Amino acid sequence: MFPKDPQMYRALIGLKIFLLACLFCLVSPHTAAQQRPEPPQISFTVAMSKPWTHLLEVELDLRQHEASSSVDLDMPVWTPGSYLIREFERQVQDFSAEADGRSLAWTKINKNTWRVKTNGAQVWKAIYRVYANELSVRTNELNSDHAFWNNAALLMYPDGFINAPSTLVVKPTIGWKVATGLPPVSGRQNTFRAENFDILYDSPVEVSNFKEIDFQVRGVPHRIVIDGEGNYDPERLRRVVQKIVETEVALFDDIPYHDYTFILHLRSNTGGGLEHLNSTALGFRRDRFATEEGWRSFYRQVAHEFFHLWNVKRIRPDALGPFDYTKENYTRSLWIAEGITEYYGQLMPRRAGLISDTTYLDHLAKQIEAFQKTPGRLEMSAEEASFDAWIKLYRPDENSVNSSISYYDKGELLGLLLDLEIRRRTHNAKSLDDVMRYLYTEFFKHGRNYTPADFQKACELIAGASLEQFFSRYVRGREELDYNGALDAAGLELNTSGSGEMMVQPARAFLGADLQQAGERLMITHVLAGAPAYEQGLNANDQIVALDGARVTKESFDARIAEKKPGDIIQVTVFRADDLRTFEVKLGSHIDAPYRIQRVANPGQEQKQIYESWLGEIQNHLR
Ligand SMILES: [Zn+2]
Repeated sequence: MFPKDPQMYRALIGLKIFLLACLFCLVSPHTAAQQRPEPPQISFTVAMSKPWTHLLEVELDLRQHEASSSVDLDMPVWTPGSYLIREFERQVQDFSAEADGRSLAWTKINKNTWRVKTNGAQVWKAIYRVYANELSVRTNELNSDHAFWNNAALLMYPDGFINAPSTLVVKPTIGWKVATGLPPVSGRQNTFRAENFDILYDSPVEVSNFKEIDFQVRGVPHRIVIDGEGNYDPERLRRVVQKIVETEVALFDDIPYHDYTFILHLRSNTGGGLEHLNSTALGFRRDRFATEEGWRSFYRQVAHEFFHLWNVKRIRPDALGPFDYTKENYTRSLWIAEGITEYYGQLMPRRAGLISDTTYLDHLAKQIEAFQKTPGRLEMSAEEASFDAWIKLYRPDENSVNSSISYYDKGELLGLLLDLEIRRRTHNAKSLDDVMRYLYTEFFKHGRNYTPADFQKACELIAGASLEQFFSRYVRGREELDYNGALDAAGLELNTSGSGEMMVQPARAFLGADLQQAGERLMITHVLAGAPAYEQGLNANDQIVALDGARVTKESFDARIAEKKPGDIIQVTVFRADDLRTFEVKLGSHIDAPYRIQRVANPGQEQKQIYESWLGEIQNHLR
């Protein structure tokens, strides 16, 4: 069983290392410091002489204090914040090394390590190129319009010196500017300093003729660096980003950086965001600012990535920092690092006054509905989803909906339930905000990462009660979440039946297969576990050619199922691979009403107070 055995193994290894370390300290308290070699001076130069070839040119200059016969250079295989082995080393080409104008021999000793035979040379350089033709927040792109890269996907570190400082010199194509969160070296053009490789790798770089929008919060400079065109109003963009920053800074009452950079890529086909130490990279569709719905999506994205500044970049789960860049770094707490960040990413635009409370509650109802319609919620816990991010969330397939959950989705709902539970237990004196502030001051400020047990204890301390049942059922376990038990604290209830103002919705015919029209072909993309389609033989990737003997499109298929009654039998004819098959399926029944969250009839005083302090604008409840 994966959840227990690896943990026990790691605990044993950890204990052994601890005991050995103690023994070492007792025997020879000074040897370790004496033996630690002084780090080499490290300087990177990144050039782009032919942007259209997508090749970034890297020169790594090393000045070692001690001679050695060889040095290993390691390329990270992943980048923090995106929990998938991406094998950045596969884009490296044209590697060479030299000292005093003479080339040095080298060999690869594994997929991401280059061993250079320095033969005692203390001043030497490695030169290589990296193919950069994938725009996402996690990868590199260089073309005739711009360059964007993650240093983890570009720059190698000398093995054993991950803590060494370095400088980064960027040589842009003529006319382009450089933006990064790294501090500049004064007096040297486009030169930046990183105190160690964790900081270097946490500072993406944009090089282009970008637009810049600036603002200040509490006297600290912030800039939005925009590459690409879009239908946004620059003044509104500045106003809303500033408002989100102010609202989140008010929650923590602290700004842990000297300056902050939002790197925003606007394209017709991009999305996503990645958090960094004092910057973030965002991709957003360039035409989405035409609608309020598009702006809301932008608020959420900014609020989520900016909240990471505290939650994950500073309030860190056990395994997430310092990082091992050569393999998976396992944690059971991504539901906190990502899910609770998502909870605040959705809530903060409301507290900032950018969306209404009704809009926020409608979002929550949709989230709950989507989660309740995921069969995998009964198969995988929030901790299991976190641990297996590397092989599950980032590698979805047609069975994912039946066997797994997203720690973003369940984590957001757990954030909601925890917040309301703490407010209820403390009669609105405390909230999840206090838990986040506590973790920030007691863990980050004391240089500690938190474990799953630390997080539970922090919640219990703030709630003033044991939350063991909550964590064992909903975090480590897979029990159904008690939404109404939580929402009642704020005088709210979840309506799943369409009753109330509307008539109670009648039960409708239900098949339980998701379809997609791909050109002429109507394909089944997912079959939900336990649904009539699943139990009676239909498969994902079946191509539907007829319903009851007649040709159908997605539209006509849906319309004809809607006309059926629960218990009716349909004939579905499909191509499965190369063969034609017909299945008889007896339709099931479900209530097809959208979930809604509504106020209870006569909320009490405390329910009203909790509602107000939870969903009121931030000015109403500043500490
Ligand atoms: Zn995130």
